[in-house]
Amino acid sequence: MNTKIVRLGEGNKDEEVLLEAGEILKAGGLVAFPTETVYGLGGDALNPDSSRKIYAAKGRPSDNPLIVHIYRTEDLYKVAREVPKEALQLAEAFWPGPLTMILPKSELIPLETTGGLTTVAVRLPSHPGARRMIECAGGFVAAPSANLSGRPSPTTAKYVVEDMNGRIEMILDGGEVGIGLESTIVDLTVNPPQILRPGFITSDMLKEVLGSVENDATLFTTASGQAPRAPGMKYRHYAPKGNLVIVQGENDRVISYVNEKLQEAKGAGKKTGVIAASDTAGRYAGDVIKTIGDRRDEEVIARRLYGILREFDDENVEQIYSESFGGEDEGHGGLGQAIMNRLLKAAGHQVIRVN
Ligand code: AMP
Ligand code: MG
Repeated sequence: MNTKIVRLGEGNKDEEVLLEAGEILKAGGLVAFPTETVYGLGGDALNPDSSRKIYAAKGRPSDNPLIVHIYRTEDLYKVAREVPKEALQLAEAFWPGPLTMILPKSELIPLETTGGLTTVAVRLPSHPGARRMIECAGGFVAAPSANLSGRPSPTTAKYVVEDMNGRIEMILDGGEVGIGLESTIVDLTVNPPQILRPGFITSDMLKEVLGSVENDATLFTTASGQAPRAPGMKYRHYAPKGNLVIVQGENDRVISYVNEKLQEAKGAGKKTGVIAASDTAGRYAGDVIKTIGDRRDEEVIARRLYGILREFDDENVEQIYSESFGGEDEGHGGLGQAIMNRLLKAAGHQVIRVN
């Protein structure tokens, strides 16, 4: 298949491009598009064939449900069988934006789109191009992240092209995304509501609206032995090809431990890499050192993380050590939760504490 790649943000041409994307989607084709979180791989959410094509293009297991993207809040009533008042409160507070809600699905949504589940994930993105494209497509676009299954979600069109060129009809290039981590997923079919995937909308922000909200037991540890309740979270997502290990502890100890390990890996003939904050990056002696940003600037770290994981792949790095970026108490506050959740998954939960 010949994939048409078109830039967005070129003024009055955008409308024409988005209309064309809408026509492709309505005809059952696939279009990758930018959102405020990461790039999505869109198909008509009401067409079971489109959903099958999405799974095929990604190489994604078909038990892993897709998120249905809408362009206006009122369409929530078409997607969901019941809309509890909590859903409307959350929509009021955070839509359009990076929040996905799980609700009982309506008859309109085929089981192919929900991976066989009777619940549906819904989101109203804030990216203007994405919203207009969804409207042009008839209002309901199923979209997972536009990466091959198992690879980090794409944060620029370059990475979408890497994974999807020749597999889908069209790629809309909207430049670099704003957030860089996927939407927060909150399940409203349980009481109290549960966070199935942390994101830019934090647990504290949700609590302000909902009163109470719990974390799925598997977000930061494998200790419960349970399966994650978002089917996609059980896969070793976001994984770089190299072996990634997170090292936690006081700076000096982390640096000397990692440098020792880097020497060992080098001795074994491996190409090595490090993910470090700006203030410590200069103190590592690996082959490829990636500076992710100021440790306190979680928004920059979130935006850089997936790109860095992909760069390690491009440079064939085999052994990677990462500092910990979970915020003050290791991933239990603010956006740090989302960063730590993704980093842990990328590392297959390999964490070493050095003090
Ligand atoms: P992605 O679109 O690649 O960000 O993946 C969508 C995520 O949403 C995956 O982790 C899915 O497992 C999760 N998801 C989608 N629909 C549901 C649902 N009905 N119940 C629980 N998780 C869901
Ligand atoms: Mg994904």
